[in-house]
Amino acid sequence: GVATGALMVSLAACSSGGSGGSTDGGGGGGGLIGVAMPTKSSERWIQDGDAVKEQLEAAGYTVDLQYAEDDIPTQVSQIENMITKGAEALIIASIDGTTLTSVLQEAADSDIPVIAYDRLIRDTENVDYYASFDNYKVGVQQANSVLNGLGLVDLEGAPIDGAPAGPFNIELFAGSPDDNNATFFWNGAIDTLQPYIDEGTLVVKSGQEDFEQAATLRWDGETAQKRMENILTSTYSDGSKVNGVLSPYDGISRGIISALTDAGYTVGAEWPVISGQDAELDSVKAIVAGEQYATIFKDTRNLAKVAVDMATALLEGNEPETNNTTDYDNGVKVVPSYLLESQIVVKDNITEVLVDSGYWTEEEING
Ligand code: BGC
Repeated sequence: GVATGALMVSLAACSSGGSGGSTDGGGGGGGLIGVAMPTKSSERWIQDGDAVKEQLEAAGYTVDLQYAEDDIPTQVSQIENMITKGAEALIIASIDGTTLTSVLQEAADSDIPVIAYDRLIRDTENVDYYASFDNYKVGVQQANSVLNGLGLVDLEGAPIDGAPAGPFNIELFAGSPDDNNATFFWNGAIDTLQPYIDEGTLVVKSGQEDFEQAATLRWDGETAQKRMENILTSTYSDGSKVNGVLSPYDGISRGIISALTDAGYTVGAEWPVISGQDAELDSVKAIVAGEQYATIFKDTRNLAKVAVDMATALLEGNEPETNNTTDYDNGVKVVPSYLLESQIVVKDNITEVLVDSGYWTEEEING
């Protein structure tokens, strides 16, 4: 109840007043929890890390929050350190989902439960639960946002009567091939776009239709920018225009936008429809400016809550809540998961989805 909550908050206040490096886990049963995040170079992970830390501290735990700047050995040694410091649970958003097998064996040897945060950790039995979004559906939403921008479907994906026949030229981008989510986004998007490609309404003019060709290592915006530049040179020098770009992440979208701008595209009639993901502030501004058509909003505060609830349930001897025990096979086992819902954001619903929920303020977006 209220009294317990207040006590927990005051305990958290005590422990965070210390050196912050305590290894005994603080008082009141709230031990140390290690939180490993991939990089600070993308806003969403900063928000994830902050939200997880805040919520764990409010529940009376001490937190070791680390970012690895997308460097795999750094992430491995950060997790090793957490184990050495006596972490009682680990919450991990991996860089490469296949590289943590041996460090997670160490965790298992010390009976430390592991929660995969947003990205599935692969090739190990030593991951206990998975907190994420419905990643296939995120891909469906990304494709639907492109189709919506082209006037073919509504935001739910329902065909619009009297929609234009096209053909529309589109290009396809995928995320990092070492991130399990990337293929889920891709499969959701391609399953949605394929019928339009098959009937000729959409044309992937570069011919680059495979995941391997579309993938963007480490979700890097500059890598995407270069690939878009190459595609514009190789495929669109004949004066034809690209009408739509499937992009799986706002940072990739910003790279694509730079390539288009450099190639002389201007916002307006000939500017393509571009999707995204994460509702990063710069990209929300780009949506307001008409450079990006849409993004996918995944409320990191809710994801943090799911992961924190899982960790605290495990530490208190309870069974975490899950809503999916079929879809996330990590190569060794199906990891019990809790999947949240995401939302498409376009210019018209920015206020409703992002401002009214308190994710961004009107000032941050328009100031
Ligand atoms: C996350 C996305 C994010 C991407 C790049 C994925 O694992 O699910 O939300 O856009 O990584 O950081």
